[in-house]
Order: sequence, then structure tokens, then C-alpha cells
Amino acid sequence: MKEFIEAIEKLSKKIEKQVNLMEVCGTHTVSIFRHGIRSLIPSNIRLLSGPGCPVCVTPIEDIDRMLYIAKQPDVILTTFGDMMRVPGSDGSLYKAKAEGANIKMVYSPLDALKIAHENKNKKVVFFAVGFETTAPLIAATIAVAEDKKIENFYIYSVHKLVPPALEVLVNTEELKLDGFILPGHVSTIIGTKPYEFISSKYKKACVITGFDADDILQAILMLLNQIINNEPKIEIQYKDAVKEEGNPKAVEFLYKYFKPVDSNWRGIGVIPKSGLKLREEYSSYDVEKVFDIPPIQSKEPKGCQCGLVLRGVKIPPECPLFAKICTPENPVGACMVSSEGSCAAYYKYGRS
Ligand code: SF4
Repeated sequence: MKEFIEAIEKLSKKIEKQVNLMEVCGTHTVSIFRHGIRSLIPSNIRLLSGPGCPVCVTPIEDIDRMLYIAKQPDVILTTFGDMMRVPGSDGSLYKAKAEGANIKMVYSPLDALKIAHENKNKKVVFFAVGFETTAPLIAATIAVAEDKKIENFYIYSVHKLVPPALEVLVNTEELKLDGFILPGHVSTIIGTKPYEFISSKYKKACVITGFDADDILQAILMLLNQIINNEPKIEIQYKDAVKEEGNPKAVEFLYKYFKPVDSNWRGIGVIPKSGLKLREEYSSYDVEKVFDIPPIQSKEPKGCQCGLVLRGVKIPPECPLFAKICTPENPVGACMVSSEGSCAAYYKYGRS
């Protein structure tokens, strides 16, 4: 680590301007805070946190729609623990559960499928959240449901794809990004090709990175080298896990079941082809084909600045509610719920 820090210091002196690097992975955000990496690097290297937490980028409209579904007769709604705590317009799924809705927390979509198998007289809905990393697992769960002829299992997919969001960020004038610390887990699936436009079209530096402090420091060093040499490219620092081609079998399997669609991101808005929906052939598993969800007027929590935090335009302490009204025990917005959210990471590690 010492060698990397010294090399970063040396290179940073060759760059006369401020360098803005963004990480777009919640695990990186937490690791950067946990290891105090911001305090280890020179002040002209600025690390920004982007929309890398899938729970955080799920807009409030989707929480409200799931609250509606959870309150329908004969429904069991299942989802991951963090989603239960995200505030909707009228409380969270936890609150709805306390008020009598049949909502179960699961660790995997296969747990949700098991619940469907054991409750044939109920409609079991899985609120599916995540990036390219979890989507193949959802596809595998549909495959098992088909195989076992489980017909009371439905998916509400708010899955997101990372590369289209990067194009929005790179075009966000306020950020003036010079490069990205690219996500390790997502890249094990998609490889390097989907990111190529960032270096070829936008001339930004990119390094796919692991999660330890020395991985991140090495990635910063690699990014600075790309910037100084004016050689933007997609480099892999996390070579133990990521191959240039990614995992083509997982990608093929994923797109057998899902197709890319325009998707709404909290704080960013609709990004073309940045979400995943089940293909027509599998629409019998699509909750929106089975339930008629009426239009819902969602209300963002008053004063919450998750949108600006997710775009990297503001840091959590710049939100007036941070650590005063909004805490991990009493989250006002999604970014304080998940341990991978920027506000939760700042709250835990970033307060002096
Ligand atoms: Fe929203 Fe709370 Fe973060 Fe403020 S501190 S942006 S209210 S989650």
C-alpha cells in the first residue's frame, strides 16, 4: 500500500488540475470509506461515489407499486432485507408487514420460489433488485420454475444495467469526470466490451477493480497513468476474477430470459435500455402481466437529496437531514438504508 500511495503522490504532482474519479459500486464505496482511502491520497485526486447501490437507485415509484401488490389478497411478497426498509410514499414494506401484509424477507430468489412451491393457493411475487450480477440468478430461478411447473411465482424486475448509467454520468457537466473505478462483480459477468465507449468515444480512463485497499490504490495509480499518458482504455486490475470476455454463458442465459428496456433510476431519471424485463415468452412470470397496477402518485421524502448524492453532485453531509433526522436506524431516503449506500457509508465511516 505504501508503494502505491507514494507512486500516486508522485504522479499527482505531474497533473496540474484536479482529477475527478468516480466509483460506481457500493462495495467500492464502503471499502474506500472503511480504509480511509480519501485521506491517503493527494488533495487534487477527488473520489466521487456514483449510483452503485441497487437498493438506492430503485425509484420510490417501484417501492409504492410493491406496497400496492403486497396489500392484494392471496399475495405473498418476497424480497431482500434492505428493500424492506426503503421508505415508500406511505411507509416501507416493513411497515406494511407490521400492519398485516404477507411480506417475507428472502436471501435468494430460490427461497422465494420455494415459498411459491409450498403455497400453491397464493401468488408469490419476488421484488427483484440488482445489477448484471444478480440478474443471471433470477433467470436461473425462472428456469427452475419452468422445470418444476411452478405457476404461482412472479417477478417484478427493477434490475439495472451499469454501462448505460455511465454514459449519463460522463455527460454530467457538473461532475467533470476524468475516469471510473469500474465495478469488479458486474465486470465478472459482462467483461470489458460494454465499457469500451467510455474510453473510445469519451476518452475517459477506466480500471476494473477489486475490493481491498491495495486493489483500489493500485487502480487509482493505473487511472493516473492513463490520464498522464493520454491513453484512455479499459484496464483490468482485478485479474483474479475478471476476464476481458466476462462470463459469456451467464450473459447468454440472462438474455434468454430478459430483454433491455428503458428504466427509471432514482435521482437520474429514465435511461434508455438500462433495465431488464422478462421477454414475452416468459411473461407468465411477469407480475405486471398478472396484476393491474393502477397509476400511483409517489412523493419523495421531503428534504431528501438522494438524487444528487447518487449522481455524485453532492456528498451526504451536504444534505441538511444527514445524521440529524436521517440515520441508519431511521432512514429518510434509500441511500441511508443499504450498507452500500453512500449516506450509510458516510454515516458509519466518514464522520469526524
Ligand atoms: Fe436522503 Fe438521508 Fe441521504 Fe439526506 S442523508 S440524502 S435524507 S438518505
